Amino acid sequence: MIFFWGIRSALTKTVSFSAEKCPYCESAGSTSGKYFSRHFHIFWIPLFPFDKTGYVICSQCQRKRDTHLMNPGLREAFLQEKKTAPRFRFWQFTGLALPVLFFMVGVVAVTFNKKYAGKYIEDPKSGDTYFYTQNNGYYTTYKVDHISLDSVYIHPNGYEVADLKKLSSINRNENYSKTLLSFSRKELREFYRSRRIFKVERW
Ligand SMILES: [Zn+2]
Repeated sequence: MIFFWGIRSALTKTVSFSAEKCPYCESAGSTSGKYFSRHFHIFWIPLFPFDKTGYVICSQCQRKRDTHLMNPGLREAFLQEKKTAPRFRFWQFTGLALPVLFFMVGVVAVTFNKKYAGKYIEDPKSGDTYFYTQNNGYYTTYKVDHISLDSVYIHPNGYEVADLKKLSSINRNENYSKTLLSFSRKELREFYRSRRIFKVERW
């Protein structure tokens, strides 16, 4: 894999030095200072800023000048303005913020599941999937077929797994047995309360 990485910059401040006359094209009032915050990037995703830089440019002839080509008065004014140029733009931290963002999305998803699983147990719907820990310590899933006044009828999954991480891989329609089992709503609540049913999925 080829890695594209390097340095790019973000414009942070523009100042007009209207009293200046351009030494190349002699235009008056066309000189301005531009300040940048430089950052590292990987595949053009900014990681973090590390440096302030800048130059003066003439809007007539587009010639740029670094500090060593400025007259002393202009250089002093340029450096004075540089002090108040922002160090960075927040988007220059995008690359560092992404993992934090992914983590927060994960936390929200887990919280969401906990909040809604309880409601799903109280008000079961056909098609709900229950993630269940069996007596032997293995994990399996149940699919709700239909609901009566006091019972929930489910199809058990024909497979079970010892590794929780593999549980979602057996949750496939063709794995569910034709057999119908029933739980009373009270049993269902008890399974959820004791964490035997530890997750409910509803689409
Ligand atoms: Zn010029």
